[in-house]
Amino acid sequence: MQRRTKIVATLGPSTDDPKMLDKIIDAGVDVVRVNFSHGTPQEHEERIERVRNRARAHGRQVGVLVDLQGPKIRIDCFENGQVELEEGATFILDTAHDPKKGNSERVGITYKALPEDVDRGDTLLLDDGRITLWVNEVKGSEIICRVIAGGTLYDRKGINKQGGGLSAPALTQKDREDIRLAAQVQADYLAVSFVRHAEDVNEARELLRTAGGHGGIVAKIERAESLNVIEEIIEAADVIMVARGDLGVEIGDAGLPPVQKRLISQSRDMNKVVITATQMMESMIESHIPTRAEVFDVANAVLDGTDAVMLSAETATGKYPDLAIEAMDRICREAEKQRQVTRSHHRIDTNFEHIDEAIAMASMYTANHLGVKAIAALTESGSTTRWMSRISSGIPIYALTRHVQTRRKVTLYRGVYPVSFDVTSQNHVEVNQDVIDELLRRGAVRDGDLVIITKGDLMGVHGGTNAMKIVRVGSLGGGEED
Ligand code: PEP
Repeated sequence: MQRRTKIVATLGPSTDDPKMLDKIIDAGVDVVRVNFSHGTPQEHEERIERVRNRARAHGRQVGVLVDLQGPKIRIDCFENGQVELEEGATFILDTAHDPKKGNSERVGITYKALPEDVDRGDTLLLDDGRITLWVNEVKGSEIICRVIAGGTLYDRKGINKQGGGLSAPALTQKDREDIRLAAQVQADYLAVSFVRHAEDVNEARELLRTAGGHGGIVAKIERAESLNVIEEIIEAADVIMVARGDLGVEIGDAGLPPVQKRLISQSRDMNKVVITATQMMESMIESHIPTRAEVFDVANAVLDGTDAVMLSAETATGKYPDLAIEAMDRICREAEKQRQVTRSHHRIDTNFEHIDEAIAMASMYTANHLGVKAIAALTESGSTTRWMSRISSGIPIYALTRHVQTRRKVTLYRGVYPVSFDVTSQNHVEVNQDVIDELLRRGAVRDGDLVIITKGDLMGVHGGTNAMKIVRVGSLGGGEED
């Protein structure tokens, strides 16, 4: 059985070693994430090229997801790199302070509008909530705080406001430049950080298209206020990322599980793809095995229906990137054996808007009720396979396409596997036989198995899927029509 849930791994210094890169490809990484919060454009380009070269050498498709930094609000630097904050002490965040001269009394901040966004009584969380400040007074450039939970605070740590409400726009000047780079490297996905509303997603898409990029847009859900307009955001995006790091700081850790479950189910219902991210295997930054809680976290995301699970520091800077992927792989496979994720919930009460969507749904209904071994979709953009993969099933969906961009895009879809396939004939019987031969070559089917093939009258036309054929392997005769 192939793993259906996809694994996204963040690249970084730990995966730069070519041997490690080979290991993570062997371990089954489906999509690599290049985090534009760190590193130079040249480093990003080199990493992407290296991955694509090695994936080619392994005969694998690996998608590339470029993750924009967004308006992450940070403190500036301390004279000594760090300070100790005592509970009850006064600590001032000051937009006018020298960015290199922070001390235990005050520190500069990168986001100059912060004093306008906070009021007395607000809670600010620094370093993913490790340090808590209560805002006592806002005076000009100064936010005068009392330390509620202290500890060591290091240079450039992030700041979040509990409950959300920071006005910084999602796309910074740096992001706009980075979008051009994402287009240049032909990223398969572009992730927009700190999305507030659908317009942020639309703007990123427009900038990417103008720059010549084709990638799908991932909306990272990490601001409390984005949850109030989540339907519009899901509608505008191709993919939703449950970015549990910043989101957990803004809405509180206890709020995360119900939000994750809701986002996964809502995204799937709205025909969108969903990634569950952050701290899934956090202990594996240092350890070669996950904790039991991490095993449950990954398995639960699979049971919830996520398309992909993501690794961040575990692979970017951790000691065991390959083992983290191997652990995710075995946990996903085991969770996928559970009846609840193979039992389909067909859209009996839904009206379809498109012919290809109707074919996708009819195929899944038939496949799940007829004991079909594999589904083969001849696809241009991959959208038929995306619809198919919104329906839970244990049956593999092969996306057969001549377009490398489509093969890379479907690497994120649960239960969908890319296959390079050029439709050279317009004769349907010959094409059916070619499809079966390809599946036989891959060991996906055997003589006597049933296969569903979907395609269009005019093969090679985007959005043209209008036919479903059921074929028994080894019994294709001449003259059959769809
Ligand atoms: C997150 O906050 O969970 C996240 C995925 O964003 P980043 O890792 O870019 O901070």
